[in-house]
Amino acid sequence: MSFDVVVVGAGPAGLCFARSLAGSGLRVALVERQEEALLADPADDGREIAVTHRSRQLLQRLGIWDRIDARDIGTLREALVLDGASRDGLIFSPALAGAQQLGWLLSNHAIRRAAFAEVAALPDVCLFAGARVASVRMEAAGAVISLDGGETLRAQLVVAADSRFSETRRAAGIGANMHDFGKTMLVLRMRHEAAHAQTAWEWFAAGQTLALLPLHDPHTSSVVLTLPPRRMQALLAQDDAALGLDMAKRFMNRLGAMEVAGPRCAYPLVGVYAHRFAAERFALVGDAAVGMHPVTAHGFNFGLLGQDALASGLRSALARGAPIWSPALLRSYERRHRAATLPLYVATQLLAGLYTDDRLPARALRKLALSAGAHVPPLRRMVVEGLTAANDDRRQARKRAGR
Ligand SMILES: Cc1cc2nc3c(=O)[nH]c(=O)nc-3n(C[C@H](O)[C@H](O)[C@H](O)COP(=O)(O)OP(=O)(O)OC[C@H]3O[C@@H](n4cnc5c(N)ncnc54)[C@H](O)[C@@H]3O)c2cc1C
Repeated sequence: MSFDVVVVGAGPAGLCFARSLAGSGLRVALVERQEEALLADPADDGREIAVTHRSRQLLQRLGIWDRIDARDIGTLREALVLDGASRDGLIFSPALAGAQQLGWLLSNHAIRRAAFAEVAALPDVCLFAGARVASVRMEAAGAVISLDGGETLRAQLVVAADSRFSETRRAAGIGANMHDFGKTMLVLRMRHEAAHAQTAWEWFAAGQTLALLPLHDPHTSSVVLTLPPRRMQALLAQDDAALGLDMAKRFMNRLGAMEVAGPRCAYPLVGVYAHRFAAERFALVGDAAVGMHPVTAHGFNFGLLGQDALASGLRSALARGAPIWSPALLRSYERRHRAATLPLYVATQLLAGLYTDDRLPARALRKLALSAGAHVPPLRRMVVEGLTAANDDRRQARKRAGR
């Protein structure tokens, strides 16, 4: 079977990319190892995704936002960063950038469900679910993709969106910098006595990192806890009642009583940055290109940006009558996406290392970083502007106004 583009992986990035090509005239094949029923109704994986203003705009444009139930959308008004037992923290307020809120929180399975519903309705996307890519071969006439079920697909371009541990990236001979933090991250929905006031917390304490992500219900949040794997195993061995008490204690009872309200989902923490985002007739999007540590909540936001950049490149090639696999186009996508992601990727790796290290120098540096954030308002404004900019309009307006 012949297609213009074969996308490997129907996760959030692969689905959004397929949706972005709708109406372009390109015939797209989407290959996913999970069965179709699981894509249509994905399991709750506990992840609550903080999305920026720009990402919301992109999701709206793709028709995905409107398919998400309002009860799956939380408001992220402001964020508070705490260090140790101190009650005072660093506040990231949307007012610093003239906005009403920093962003939104969407359940990952709600994003996946909505994105799949959009893509399933597209006449020019052909889904191969329950299928794995066995091999990809480049020939003069195009790419030849063999699936483990025996089918052969031909395409002008292959786009890998098959996770940070992408097998397709590896098979294409593209390496990646991988950093295993040696920690496990638990995400768990919990109900709590005190209201969350739509404020996210990032709390660095001895031997653990805690975060609280406010959900739609004022007394329900996603609790994110990072621990060394053995301590995480012990924690997860507890029953719900004991886990509720344990969490309330970790939060120093600042939220009152807490109770488990969702599945316990644990993830190994590995940051990944591909050496290249493109090769002959081949490109990477989503976590396959940039797999962020979740502490700065940017993996999906970058995935959205990257797929949008690649899809726009393909559309403008079509408009010029140029091939969609042209090396110049793929290099330009790579440059653009690297420039958009590398600075925050590096900063996130440093931050994640600093905040999960309990040795004295790291603790002192943390204090210094928080105090720099508190006393140098432009730093905080930069962070807030990055989250709230829907496009560059607001920043340009501020520049023009000399602020
Ligand atoms: C705990 C946690 C919290 C997070 N919080 C945030 C946040 O607040 N904000 C944010 O922006 N991001 C966040 N992220 C990151 C975000 O979840 C990811 O960036 C995003 O899910 C990546 O999407 P993807 O489609 O690239 O990859 P994935 O979601 O990994 O999907 C890959 C797909 O490819 C399929 N696949 C894999 N191999 C093959 C194969 N060989 N053949 C066919 N199919 C294959 C898989 O089955 C899967 O469906 C968080 C991540 C975690 C773990």
